Amino acid sequence: MIDLRSDTVTKPTESMRVAMVDAVVGDDVYEEDPTVNDLEEYTAELLGKEAALLVTSGTQGNQIAVLGHCNLGNEVIMEQESHLFHYEGAAISAFAGVQPRTVLGDRGFIAQAELEAAIRSEDVHAPETGLICLENTHNRHGGAIITPEQTKEMTDVAKRYGIPTHLDGARLFNASVALGVDIKELSEPFTSVQICLSKGLGAPIGSIIAGDKAFIKKARKWRKRLGGGMRQAGVIAAPGKIALTSMVERLKDDHTHAQFIAKAVEEIRGLSVGNQVDTNIVLLDTTQLSCTAQEFVNHLYTAGVKANTFGPQTVRLITHKDLSQVEIEKAIDTLRQVASYFEMEA
Ligand SMILES: *Cc1c(COP(=O)(O)O)cnc(C)c1O
Repeated sequence: MIDLRSDTVTKPTESMRVAMVDAVVGDDVYEEDPTVNDLEEYTAELLGKEAALLVTSGTQGNQIAVLGHCNLGNEVIMEQESHLFHYEGAAISAFAGVQPRTVLGDRGFIAQAELEAAIRSEDVHAPETGLICLENTHNRHGGAIITPEQTKEMTDVAKRYGIPTHLDGARLFNASVALGVDIKELSEPFTSVQICLSKGLGAPIGSIIAGDKAFIKKARKWRKRLGGGMRQAGVIAAPGKIALTSMVERLKDDHTHAQFIAKAVEEIRGLSVGNQVDTNIVLLDTTQLSCTAQEFVNHLYTAGVKANTFGPQTVRLITHKDLSQVEIEKAIDTLRQVASYFEMEA
């Protein structure tokens, strides 16, 4: 099978597996795992933050941020298509007791006026704005990049109002590599940042949340409360370090593959590309075919290609390290075959 469902399907490399075997470990709840401590220090430095914490998943990292920054009854501003709003089981409401305030952005970017309009003023009836959350790259906007200039515009507004900011940077390295900028330019302006080790970077497990020392102290407690205090977690941290030191630059190959797919799809009758392809995500628009996205995906599957639906007429493809050029070409052939099947029926 050629798996284009997500970059989360990537398997650990041989050197990651060796590093797991060889990892020096201790009990990380006592902060005594040297491999975890090293990874956390390394990542904090990389992201331009004072401290960092290894967490079990991106979702846990985002939830810890909301729990750490907010009080009960707060409102959290987030982009309408954000992961935090769509894919985390309303955990911010279930666990942190806050309500989401969604704002539709331009590919994940919220302009100053709209952001300011969403911030609550002091009123006995109103919730207080406790946090502003942004996402880069933006998953539901098709891997869209938020630039350092856009980042600064948004975080400057938040700073003016004294509101903390959190970046869901599950795929932040894709943005920094595609733009050719130091990741600090995209992470430093935020109060806290979450990055995933287990997506395109290929580590088997884990995310990291970074911020100032006081925030990470709080985050550590929230992680424990959520059951994310792990013991000999060095076996996770060791491949995580490899992800950060040797898997970042190669994300460019994933972006090249995504461009290659997008270009080929433009030549396929009945299919079109539904997004500006900035990074490793290609959205296919199936509206011109006589099928739903689900039917299209079902036929792809039968022909040996896995993809996800992303709406009634949208299919999402994500490129990643475990796909060769040959497999990408084979996937394109399959897209062509399935499209032509539903074209003929139309
Ligand atoms: C995958 C993802 C997450 C969550 O990561 P998990 O490790 O799957 O919990 C958060 N935000 C974005 C934008 C993602 O793509």
